[in-house]
Amino acid sequence: MSGVWSRADRHYRADVLERAAIFLTGRIDQLIAVEVQQTGRTIREMKAQVPSLTKWFKYYAALIRTEERAVLPTSGQLHNWIDRKPLGVVVQITPFNHPLLIAVKKLAPALAAGNSVLLKPSELTPLTSITLSEILQEAGLPHGVLTVLTGYGSTTGKFLVSHPLVKKVDVTGGTPAGRAIGAIAGHNLASFTAELGGKAPVIVTEHANIEAAVNGVAFGSFIASGQTCIAATRILVKRAILPLFLENLVGKAKSIEKRIGSPTNMKSMMGPLVSAAQLAKVESLVDSAESGSLSILTGGSRMTGISILDSHDLSRGYFYPPTIIGDGSASKVVGSRIWREEAFGPVIVVVGFETEKEAIDLANDSEFGLGAAIWTQDISQAHRLSAAVDAGIVWINTHHRNDPSSPWGGVKSSGVGSENGIEAYHAYTTVKSTILNYASTNQALNSEDWFGEEVESVRYG
Ligand code: NAD
Repeated sequence: MSGVWSRADRHYRADVLERAAIFLTGRIDQLIAVEVQQTGRTIREMKAQVPSLTKWFKYYAALIRTEERAVLPTSGQLHNWIDRKPLGVVVQITPFNHPLLIAVKKLAPALAAGNSVLLKPSELTPLTSITLSEILQEAGLPHGVLTVLTGYGSTTGKFLVSHPLVKKVDVTGGTPAGRAIGAIAGHNLASFTAELGGKAPVIVTEHANIEAAVNGVAFGSFIASGQTCIAATRILVKRAILPLFLENLVGKAKSIEKRIGSPTNMKSMMGPLVSAAQLAKVESLVDSAESGSLSILTGGSRMTGISILDSHDLSRGYFYPPTIIGDGSASKVVGSRIWREEAFGPVIVVVGFETEKEAIDLANDSEFGLGAAIWTQDISQAHRLSAAVDAGIVWINTHHRNDPSSPWGGVKSSGVGSENGIEAYHAYTTVKSTILNYASTNQALNSEDWFGEEVESVRYG
């Protein structure tokens, strides 16, 4: 490292991040348009998401301006302080579903800490990451501190993470990619953060407001056409309210289906799946549910033909409608592929429960543990359930909240470490401890000559 960034004054680095927030806003229309084009997600979603990304640059700029340094309570006449140093060159690997959001979430703390970054976006959605690197350069990031390298995971990605000079790998993607990358990072003794797959449970109790819960589940399940890591996919509902809940949720899903059209239409509610491979995965999971005699309550097959909303030709994209599976009985659903595997599409299962214990057991019956949600107006019940659910993020009476200050990460097969907040910044640094002896020379000579011939009491450790 030349030090042009790693040793730059923290206020200089903060200024660059703040200018990046301003320049990102200056290019907002272009970024939104390209994000819609490359992901297929609706303009309505991207208009809501992309402007919020400036918060990450501002948050980490503020964090480094105000960071305090610990002086530790070491015994003796010693002054022991801690510095945080950048790690060096770090690699960031990002997925297709929120290309800009995830790049910004990773870049802001890494750059704030003074690292140099090699960013490899998804091969499906590389364009806005390239624009982002231009924005950072215009904001004053020195040349070479951020390099965006496009390419496939198995070639470019693997090559990057394997380099022995790479000090950290931070990946967001599927669990298989996370495991493969983690094995390489471990071999190289590089730091590792991984935000991986999920199969989020949602518990809706008899104390929930049903309308709010249905709205929240529909949002959690169908935003980004279900292509989110915290997608609400296993919906657990108290049996007493199950019929009413299902009636409302199915109604909502059918209403969304009628309003699917061109992703560039502000009135369109859901875009297509990103690729033929993603469509094939979703179709295979729905087929397996059907052949396991699970009920498909709505949706269940690819949309083709002309959109009722705006005459968009749906056959030209991988459009898939909101799909609700299961009539509430747990016996057939639990253990099935659609219960276990991440669909990454708008396909959810609904299961009834009787007791809180049953709800918790069902919620935790997954290899994943990223997001979870609980819908109840009973505060004691909210505490009991949220404490018992194995997940890195639990939302109560809401879903999919994300803020630069709020940790985002999973347990079990959902990942290692977390994004956002001070912890993500710390994870892009290494701690340096400096200990200064302020004893006078005479004191030191009297008590610190371990191998002296006369001295009786000398220090050790
Ligand atoms: P993916 O695993 O196919 O690819 C993710 C990234 O990893 C891409 O850039 C890809 O090129 C790269 N990659 C794949 N294999 C690699 C390898 N062996 N070495 C180096 N790089 C490799 O995932 P995707 O389809 O782009 O995204 C969907 C997945 O991401 C889902 O599983 C989803 O849950 C997960 N995701 C997780 C979070 C989170 O915060 N936990 C957020 C978004 C998406």
